[in-house]
Amino acid sequence: MRVSILGATGSIGQSTIDLIRRQPERHDVVALTGGRNIAQLVRDARALKAQVAVTCYPGLYADLKAALSGTGIEAAAGPEALIEAAARPADWIMSAIVGAAGLAPGMAALGQGTTLALANKETLVCAGPLVMRTAKAAGATLLPVDSEHSAVFQALVGEDIGAVEKVIITASGGAFRDRPLGQLSGVTVAEASAHPNWDMGQRITIDSASMFNKALELIETREFFGVAPEQIEAVIHPESLVHALVQFRDGGLMAHLGAPDMRHAIGYALNWPERAHLPVPRVNLAEVGALTFRAPDEARYPALRLAREVMAAGGLAGAAFNAAKEVALDAFIAGRIRFTDMAPVVERTLTQMSSGDGLENAPLSLDKVLQIDALARVRAKEAIGTLMEPS
Ligand code: NAD
Ligand code: MG
Repeated sequence: MRVSILGATGSIGQSTIDLIRRQPERHDVVALTGGRNIAQLVRDARALKAQVAVTCYPGLYADLKAALSGTGIEAAAGPEALIEAAARPADWIMSAIVGAAGLAPGMAALGQGTTLALANKETLVCAGPLVMRTAKAAGATLLPVDSEHSAVFQALVGEDIGAVEKVIITASGGAFRDRPLGQLSGVTVAEASAHPNWDMGQRITIDSASMFNKALELIETREFFGVAPEQIEAVIHPESLVHALVQFRDGGLMAHLGAPDMRHAIGYALNWPERAHLPVPRVNLAEVGALTFRAPDEARYPALRLAREVMAAGGLAGAAFNAAKEVALDAFIAGRIRFTDMAPVVERTLTQMSSGDGLENAPLSLDKVLQIDALARVRAKEAIGTLMEPS
């Protein structure tokens, strides 16, 4: 099978490569893409004998080209090259770029009618209806890689989506689930970057602490499975062993459990519709003893309320929400705003944009989504400026 990995140098990309390297005879690697970590990109492109390696930064083209000289592997750089790489014929493509930057390459991959393993949740948050329509028109298969959505997908095998009453996704609660509320405004970037259970990229780890990650995932659930917002719930489950549950109309609940290791969801998508042996830790329930659950506190996690508002608004609200969240996250990482300022920045952006920026319209084209994304970034920076003004 011909495979490509968009975002190969990241956390999901590296876990995907780990699985592919275990069965080299089964996979022909077409394209690998990355960012600043040229050494990693080159190491993997050589080891996997990729056709082409791409960095998203045009300024790094010369470095990449030099490091690949004599290997026969093509070098390319920049956003256009990413799209070209995603459009190269492949049977299975991993979408693991972080952020809205993954949207255009993901759409290019879908356009060729491939199987797209979707780790980049922002794709569905920004442009769900457009993505689903494009996949259908191109005859592409979309497989979820987010652990919760992979769990829901697995619980639904052989089931009728019409018989679903509720979809429940779990959340670890992130780094600050037990921190007194009054202390949240003072937490540091380093503290927010340490996840209690999962080892992931820095951005999604901080988004787990704020639950913006879960907010994106509520929207992702709605777009992927087509269930109504009121059918979707998030529940805190500190052990991170149950990834999601589907409640059917007969009252039965199907849960998916597994160790918190992304190679499960990646491997499921890689081998689908078959199941292959995977090198993930096994869960021993007798050793675990107890699984606990509790309702999330919305005062601690305002992102969840914002996700409800975004789902109710529909249209392009998801694209604005995600872009504002990315800007707020950048500002927190850069030390410009506090942890607890992120949600107000996003909320203010959405309020500003809901009057007059056409958010209510369905995302009909990629250009329109990218336009709203760009506008929301401007508005979010304005919101940060307002927040910084001495009152
Ligand atoms: P990461 O930061 O570890 O890696 C991101 C990858 O994207 C890198 O290869 C990087 O070079 C590339 N990249 C960054 N900015 C880019 C840009 N502007 N253009 C092109 N490429 C760019 O991220 P990650 O944790 O692997 O997450 C990747 C995606 O998967 C995210 O959407 C995340 O929400 C999702 N996801 C991750 C996990 C996890 O366990 N890490 C779990 C579920 C979902
Ligand atoms: Mg997840």
